[in-house]
Amino acid sequence: MPLIRTRGVILKSQKWGDADRIVTIFSPNLGKIRGAARGARRMKTRFGGVLEPFGVVDLTLFQKTPESLGQISQIDLVMSYASIREDLTVMTAAARMVKMVEAITVDRDPNPGMYATLVHGLESLRPDSDVALAALLFQIHVLGHTGFRPQFDSCTECGKVGHDQRPQWFSPRLGGVVCQECSQQGVGRILSLSKGSVAFIEQARRLSMPNLSRLKATGSVRVEVETAMDAYFYAVVGKSLPTFEQWVS
Ligand SMILES: [Zn+2]
Repeated sequence: MPLIRTRGVILKSQKWGDADRIVTIFSPNLGKIRGAARGARRMKTRFGGVLEPFGVVDLTLFQKTPESLGQISQIDLVMSYASIREDLTVMTAAARMVKMVEAITVDRDPNPGMYATLVHGLESLRPDSDVALAALLFQIHVLGHTGFRPQFDSCTECGKVGHDQRPQWFSPRLGGVVCQECSQQGVGRILSLSKGSVAFIEQARRLSMPNLSRLKATGSVRVEVETAMDAYFYAVVGKSLPTFEQWVS
C-alpha cells in the first residue's frame, strides 16, 4: 500500500540536502517511520513550522516499497507542545523521551502502548514540576514496552532469589540485579542498587502513567535509579541520552 495516512509524534527532524528535511515519526499503528519533506527549508513551504520534534501530527506519506524512503505529501499539526521549548530543562526532559523511543525501537514495529506512554510523558512536562523525575519514570515505563525489561526479582546471573539483607547490585550488561557472589565474578561493571531503589522501580512499573506523578524519589534512591537506568539504556542501545547537567553550567 503506497499511500500511508497516520498520526504520530515527531521524534527527529534532520536537515537533508539543500532544502529538505528527513522526519522520523513514531506512529501508534505503524511504529517508527521516516519520510522526506521536500523543500521544507525554503522560505515558502507547505510544511510551515510543523516539522519540529515533540509535535503530534497527522501525516500523509507516499512510499513505493516498505524499504524505500517515503515522501511526505501532507503533514498537519494536531498538538505542538510549544511550551516545551520555552524552558531548557523541560526541553531536555522531552529530548530524553523522544531519543529513548527513537533509539530503542526498530522501523515499522507497531507498539501502541509505547506510543500512549510517549504522549502521556510529553503531556506531563510542566515547567513547575520535577521534569527530570518525569523523564526517569518515563524511562522505566518505556523499557516495560520492550523486550529489555530489567530483572529485579532474582539474580540475573545465577537465578538465586535474594531475600537476605545484603546489598543488591545492578549489572547494566546483564540487565538486572546480581547477588553478592555473582557481583564479584566478572559480570562487568556493577552499580549499587539498594532495596529501596528496587522498590521504587517496581512501584513505578506498577503505576499507570497518569498516576505516576504521585511517586517521589529523593536522595540516594534518586541517584541510584538514575545512574542504573542510564547505564542500562546505554548497554542496550549504545547511545547516551541528553543530560540535564549540560545546561546547568
Ligand atoms: Zn547470583
